[in-house]
Amino acid sequence: MVNAAGRQRVALFGGTFDPPHHGHLSIAQAAADAFALKKVLFTPVGHQPLKPGESAAPFADRLAMVRLACAEDSRFEASAIDAPHPNGSPNYTVETLNALRREMPEAELFSVAGADSFLTLRQWREPDRLLELAEWIVVSRPGSPLRELAGLDLSAEQRKRVHLVETVHEEVSATELRHRLEAGEDCTGLIPEAVARYIAKNHLYR
Ligand code: ATP
Repeated sequence: MVNAAGRQRVALFGGTFDPPHHGHLSIAQAAADAFALKKVLFTPVGHQPLKPGESAAPFADRLAMVRLACAEDSRFEASAIDAPHPNGSPNYTVETLNALRREMPEAELFSVAGADSFLTLRQWREPDRLLELAEWIVVSRPGSPLRELAGLDLSAEQRKRVHLVETVHEEVSATELRHRLEAGEDCTGLIPEAVARYIAKNHLYR
């Protein structure tokens, strides 16, 4: 959990988490195991620039659900560092990582992403800076072949900062879950139980 230089490894795990599901937990666990991460910070995003339009559930509910999901593993922690900005402007990961760097100057910073998400890196704000601010742990996701990373045109130096975890094969997506919940279908086994109870109690995704 502490590397040779004595620095703790901390990873940002950003997402909409609308709602959080077992795919999220699996990739965070796989990343934490593979890279001896001390902490994985689940950060629900206020306004995701590449997913315009409102999230189905408000930020406060997404954060509450992420808190419940994080109880599944002692290395996981929910963070509101990526809360919506007062003026409603989009949340950019480069700003989040900068903020984390200021908050934890001693930590060795990682960022966890699913393959589908990381493959859009060139559309993100300041992609080259993102690769300087953190090492990236990119986890396999069905339908998003990791060989497509070649299309990102990373330099040899940048490529060294991108680590692949290819052992996760989770078909689940939040979009599919929202549809199932809306239709009143059972989502047992796809969502942590405490999150499922929160959704039912607060009448989300109806
Ligand atoms: P949606 O269906 O609403 O787009 P999602 O299921 O992709 O949502 P997000 O909250 O947008 O969930 O994802 C956060 C991060 O988790 C992203 O980096 C995404 O690639 C990753 N991720 C989500 N589900 C999986 C999965 N089943 N396998 C691998 N990575 C995943």
